[in-house]
Amino acid sequence: MDASRNLLVQSGNQSQSTIRHVYKVFILLAITVTIHVHSLDFVYHQDIGQVLHNIHEKCPNLTRVYTIGSSVKGRSLWVIEISDNPGEHEVGEPEFKYIANMHGNEPAGRELLLQLANHLCRKYSRDRRVQRLVNNTRIHLMPCMNPDGFHESYLVYNRTGEVPPFYGRGNANGVDLNRNFPDLISIYYENERTNGPNHHITRTPQPEDPIMQPEVEAVIAWMHKHPFVLSANLHEGELVANYPFDTSRTNRNFYSACPDDELFRHLATTYAENHATMRDRKNLCPYGGAHLFENGITNGADWYSVTGSMQDYNYLATNCFDITTELGCTKFPPENRLREIWDDNRESLLKFLEKAQMGVHGVVRSQNGSRIRDAVVEVAGPRIGHDVTTAKDGDFWRLLLPGLYTINFHAEGFKSKSETVTVRKGKTTWVEVTMETETIDVECFSRQWKDLEENALPHLKALVKRMGFHPGRRCPSKVETIIAEKLFIP
Ligand SMILES: [Zn+2]
Repeated sequence: MDASRNLLVQSGNQSQSTIRHVYKVFILLAITVTIHVHSLDFVYHQDIGQVLHNIHEKCPNLTRVYTIGSSVKGRSLWVIEISDNPGEHEVGEPEFKYIANMHGNEPAGRELLLQLANHLCRKYSRDRRVQRLVNNTRIHLMPCMNPDGFHESYLVYNRTGEVPPFYGRGNANGVDLNRNFPDLISIYYENERTNGPNHHITRTPQPEDPIMQPEVEAVIAWMHKHPFVLSANLHEGELVANYPFDTSRTNRNFYSACPDDELFRHLATTYAENHATMRDRKNLCPYGGAHLFENGITNGADWYSVTGSMQDYNYLATNCFDITTELGCTKFPPENRLREIWDDNRESLLKFLEKAQMGVHGVVRSQNGSRIRDAVVEVAGPRIGHDVTTAKDGDFWRLLLPGLYTINFHAEGFKSKSETVTVRKGKTTWVEVTMETETIDVECFSRQWKDLEENALPHLKALVKRMGFHPGRRCPSKVETIIAEKLFIP
């Protein structure tokens, strides 16, 4: 190679290397800008609505920001929905929720949910796991259920760097929102004794009931609007995943298993074992009466019995299975710990979310193809004494551990139907159920009625006479007249 050519080659190499260098710098710059645009600072964000709208702007096709109502002081209760079809319930797709900061002085969960929303948005285009999650589950995240309590405690935090243990826990009326849900469990325990309903329990408001707070009222309306299947509410002050029931039969502290106890232990364990320290920590939280929980999980009432909690309400009044997670000993951790808390919880939050797919999902239809809402889905064998119901599109989700099950379907006006299904680990079992209309067998009905007339009615009439009613004569009071009429007394 001659000298001039060598020089030429060198200069060519130099300019190529300069181009490569500039190109590399450009790529790095682009990555840095992208990361900057997509990352969310680890601080306590004051304006949740603004943060959620910023995330929505980054992922307009994956998100929807909405409010479900307002706090006592008129602050919005923000939610971000993350889904491949935001704003729409897709038939067969389960709906999931996380709620944080219902105790105003426990704000780490609030930042975790903002980070989670941001994570799902920024990873969606290239992360297959996130794609699966977002495409197959309609996710709702509510970073703050108690904005007034947060505001109070944040002011103190900002001034002093720490918050006294119960400062800002309640809402602006000083009410603990996790004790303010209707007390359904006393009705449930009574139903258990009398063979009454084991699901969708309702309570007629009583004069002695605590006044329902606007934050709780809004969340209850939201719970009944969406067919939520699975959820968790995020707290701080301990390090444990807590599952129903929260109320024992006597209000003393002891293990109070609900019919889905085994499933709930699995769900709580999923959170605990994927957390950096929850399952295996060695040190007690620094408060009097603290103890270590076996495997990082606990039954609510076994820890301490309370009434009016959100997780019990979810289970007893809706189809949703809810757990309560305590994410650390410090109720209001300093901002410089938020990144570590996110790293500790990220996998738990994702793994728990994936559990919305476990068990049996399906659709219940009539013979003519119309979907049947409010059909009862009963796990008959091995029996689990807690039924779920179909949503308005006839779709249902019954979270179940792996196994072989007999599931019965009941709906008014239809013959009950039984299906045998196998649930496999990490898989969803899909079932399509067609129910036949129930027709009245006229011949059978007249046979039954004749039998009743001949055997039971004479006894009933004789019994009524013995109780002092006098058929054929004017009854002594209006009440007796009504009773006599109702009993067909001639
Ligand atoms: Zn709490």
